[in-house]
Amino acid sequence: MLQSEAWIEKCGRDYLLKINRVASELDLEDNHYLEVVGQIICQIAVEVTFCPYCGIKLDRSKNAIIPSFELYDFSK
Ligand SMILES: [Zn+2]
Repeated sequence: MLQSEAWIEKCGRDYLLKINRVASELDLEDNHYLEVVGQIICQIAVEVTFCPYCGIKLDRSKNAIIPSFELYDFSK
């Protein structure tokens, strides 16, 4: 199983679900760009459209049902 961390963060008017994939011992052996265990290998930030607790729409300015996301790759 991949090592990861996940949390929801308020970013201006948006709420983002951020997921980090972090380096394990094995990742360090496989990838020489990585230096320490726990180092972030990649981060994905997904726009949260609906509150996970009560289901209310969080961003009233947008009509998108499908959230956009960004992927940051720190492995190279
Ligand atoms: Zn709520």
